[in-house]
Amino acid sequence: MKLTILGAGLSGLSLAYFLQDRSDIEHIDIIEKDDDIAGLCRSIRKDGYTYDIGPHILFSKDKEMLELMLSVLDAKNDLKRSNQIIYKGRWVQYPFENDLSKLPKDDLDYCVSMFKANPYRGYVPQNMLQFFLKTFGEGITNTYLRPYNEKIWKYDPSFMDTQMVERIPQPTDEEIMRSASGETVEGYVHQLYFHFPKEGGIEAVPKGFARKLNSKCQIHLNNAVKSVKKQTDGTFKVVTDKGQEFVSERLISTIPIQAMTAAYDKVPADIQSHVDDLKYNSIIIAFVKTKEDLSGDNFAFMNPEKDIIFHRISKMDFLGDAYKSDSATYMVEVTYRKNDYTDQLSEEELKSRIADGMVRIGFAKEKSDSEFINITKHQYAYVIYDLNHKENMTTIREFYKAEGIDLNGRFGNFEYWNMDKVLREAKNMAENF
Ligand SMILES: Cc1cc2nc3c(=O)[nH]c(=O)nc-3n(C[C@H](O)[C@H](O)[C@H](O)COP(=O)(O)OP(=O)(O)OC[C@H]3O[C@@H](n4cnc5c(N)ncnc54)[C@H](O)[C@@H]3O)c2cc1C
Repeated sequence: MKLTILGAGLSGLSLAYFLQDRSDIEHIDIIEKDDDIAGLCRSIRKDGYTYDIGPHILFSKDKEMLELMLSVLDAKNDLKRSNQIIYKGRWVQYPFENDLSKLPKDDLDYCVSMFKANPYRGYVPQNMLQFFLKTFGEGITNTYLRPYNEKIWKYDPSFMDTQMVERIPQPTDEEIMRSASGETVEGYVHQLYFHFPKEGGIEAVPKGFARKLNSKCQIHLNNAVKSVKKQTDGTFKVVTDKGQEFVSERLISTIPIQAMTAAYDKVPADIQSHVDDLKYNSIIIAFVKTKEDLSGDNFAFMNPEKDIIFHRISKMDFLGDAYKSDSATYMVEVTYRKNDYTDQLSEEELKSRIADGMVRIGFAKEKSDSEFINITKHQYAYVIYDLNHKENMTTIREFYKAEGIDLNGRFGNFEYWNMDKVLREAKNMAENF
């Protein structure tokens, strides 16, 4: 049997890795539009610096998949999280609810009293905002969770469902009181310790899998999928923008569902409308060097404040010697959607807004202290679990299943999956292939 995999990100590469030893598979073609593999895990190299499309760290509750990712690396750094939330000029250790004593007195009282006297506790939350109110109370929600989530998602949390957040544990009264009285309690401990490739950025992980592919597998770079057709004999014919043709008995798509649907030759109008209704965020990544290091030995800083354009800024120097600079380098993230306010900003306006943010959060003394090494835009970054997501994806999956086409990967299957989950789903699919 021949198999075609669309997309050479972590999902496509790991699917080939998990399937390559099966005796009934003779050949696997992996088709990739870019000039290199790795997709969202690609690392960007500029002026001697290496950084990723948003801070990627290796952690997981799924120990088997974590071990597998680490096993394909030449060497790794073991790191302990040190993340801060910048709130009214103060640093509150992440997660917010575990370090409340750092807040100004009025905000602290608001958070604690509304946590204890929370009228929303008894409800079954119908959306993300209701989940926050029920779990954390109005104070923590309005002080941090609502503004930060509005910023990252560019979407009102009352129009998002609870899929993303329903596993967040509810803090106990005792934990909140300890946090309010000055004790910093470590939270979300499954990500407290993490790993990062010693060299080469996060791309070292997908590249590690690519190195393990055998001679049955062939990667075709610079080939964007243009059309996919199911032929009368049941085989699939994929044609790329280069005019290359691939015919196979089985087809797995890990390219964004929007790209797959645009290429497929017989998509009914109702399926197209479900695909058109899917919401996602794009991301701007700016790589910035400052004159001085004013941020200490910390990694990521979350910024809920509305007048700072970025929601998160990560200090690359934290990740190990290969990522250090002579002062400090930062990866700045700004989410946007096509044609929204942020998307309309020119590159100069963006840089000016970011440099202004750097001064406001105290990482630069003047706007001119921020030197822009690079700035890039990436279309597919975050799946948004809006209120229609579940119904849209159930219908879309049923359609492709009936066509005999397998969907996998973060945007291929349109789920908010991290690398560990991408690998787990690839392994599951391979086991049931
Ligand atoms: C900002 C950000 C931060 C993240 N942080 C973490 C983290 O800390 N830890 C973690 O585990 N995960 C993290 N992730 C998630 C991680 O990046 C993804 O889970 C993973 O990269 C998804 O791999 P994939 O193969 O499913 O998708 P992709 O990497 O998107 O792969 C799809 C591939 O298809 C190709 N393609 C698209 N269209 C076509 C076409 N028409 N023809 C041919 N090829 C095409 C693309 O070029 C790409 O190579 C983060 C993601 C983002 C955006």
